[in-house]
Amino acid sequence: MKNSDRPGRFANAIDCDVHNSIPSAKVLYPYLSEYWQDFMDEAGRPSLETNAYPANSAIAARPDARAADVPPGSDPDTLIAQVLDAPGSRRAILNCLYGVHAIYNEYWAAALATAVNDWMAAHWLARDPRLSASIVIAPQNPQSAAEEIERRAGDRRFVQVLLPARTLMPLGRRFYWPVYEAAARHGLPVCIHAGGGGAGQPPTAAGWPTHYVEEYLAVAQGFQGQLVSLVTEGVFAKLPALTVVFAESGFTWLPALMWRLDKNWKGLRREVPWVDRLPSEIIRDHLKLTLQPLDQPNELRRLVETLDHIGSDEMLLFSTDYPHWQFDDEGPLPLDLSPEAERKLLFANAERTYRFHA
Ligand code: ZN
Repeated sequence: MKNSDRPGRFANAIDCDVHNSIPSAKVLYPYLSEYWQDFMDEAGRPSLETNAYPANSAIAARPDARAADVPPGSDPDTLIAQVLDAPGSRRAILNCLYGVHAIYNEYWAAALATAVNDWMAAHWLARDPRLSASIVIAPQNPQSAAEEIERRAGDRRFVQVLLPARTLMPLGRRFYWPVYEAAARHGLPVCIHAGGGGAGQPPTAAGWPTHYVEEYLAVAQGFQGQLVSLVTEGVFAKLPALTVVFAESGFTWLPALMWRLDKNWKGLRREVPWVDRLPSEIIRDHLKLTLQPLDQPNELRRLVETLDHIGSDEMLLFSTDYPHWQFDDEGPLPLDLSPEAERKLLFANAERTYRFHA
């Protein structure tokens, strides 16, 4: 049986990782001061759009999402038709992965983050009430990032804060706490999405790899480092209401990490006395993870077993990762779940995580 054999299966789904794109830097100009417009004109109007969908890489994006001169995800009508109307999800969260984190000028980065959020509010969120968005921030300066969170917090169409997974230093470090404090103040989860870098740090713990396949595989180890950092530095002890969402992280690595972290914590807990209970319990209470890309082999889509090892069916959030082409005939959702587990994955977990507007 395929997902397509069960029409209406996604009628209540909440798609928690959808990517819209900025067609050109020029669309941000109305939201930038004259100073930054001049600055960008002199620099040749550089676009910070990531190269996530190379034109000749057929499987990087859904073929029907591609357009001639702009990145996939640039046109709201196409995205709405392909994410909401056709599969029938009732809501989608836009994660706009513009490369504001990848530049050294933190003032320019902050101005661009504000412009991206203004542009999304005007051109996407105002177009369809089924769209929500993540607040784009510049992690180079957490203080100005916190100010951007304060600026957006009253607009309930923005439902979380977006950080890249590859950062200058581990995300549990106090440097980033102004971001978490601002998010927690407003009940906003912090979404850490695959990608980032740009400050010279390698994607693997072993240094710079040769091939993209190595970098792609190393995404999981980056997330593991961030999770251990968040727990051991005491972010969740300081901010007990904070939720962190990992997007495009995969999740089959999580049981082994929790087992090992629990074991080593028992021997080394003197070092981190603020971690006052099993790290796996803290992780289950504070972490959510998006579904796609599913890091289980096709022939072993025993999601029910993985959830059993994780010890919770309340951590995964449904996602398609549109316009990436992460699945085909088998559809975005494994078929081995109980009706109750499927209900949680499709929408109930997201409803408990996010403060959606009406
Ligand atoms: Zn994604």
